[in-house]
Amino acid sequence: MTVFVDKTENNIKRCLCLNCPSYSTTCKLKNATQSASRATQNLKNRTHYEKMFCAFEKSNCIHLDRGCLCNECMNFKEYNLENCTYCLHTGGGRKCRI
Ligand code: SF4
Ligand code: SF4
Repeated sequence: MTVFVDKTENNIKRCLCLNCPSYSTTCKLKNATQSASRATQNLKNRTHYEKMFCAFEKSNCIHLDRGCLCNECMNFKEYNLENCTYCLHTGGGRKCRI
């Protein structure tokens, strides 16, 4: 069963994606201006956000799996997620590497 995380500011704060090796410096720079200008308004109606990909669609910027921190995240535990690399796969991520 695919589980989706609630699109809340609190859940976004818990997300570890910005510390992840797959979230490249180029992507961080590219998305810094986006986040500053779009902040976290109207989250529930959004399909795209460059963070917390388990609640939104995949990233427009991350294209390579260089490791994933999802299974260390509070949202992963609280929502009983089973997958990782949500930034690369819309609709439920892929199986975590052990
Ligand atoms: S979904 Fe996983 S692999 Fe992608 S940026 Fe977040 S922690 Fe990293
Ligand atoms: S499970 Fe992964 S994508 Fe979802 S909030 Fe946590 S680190 Fe971010």
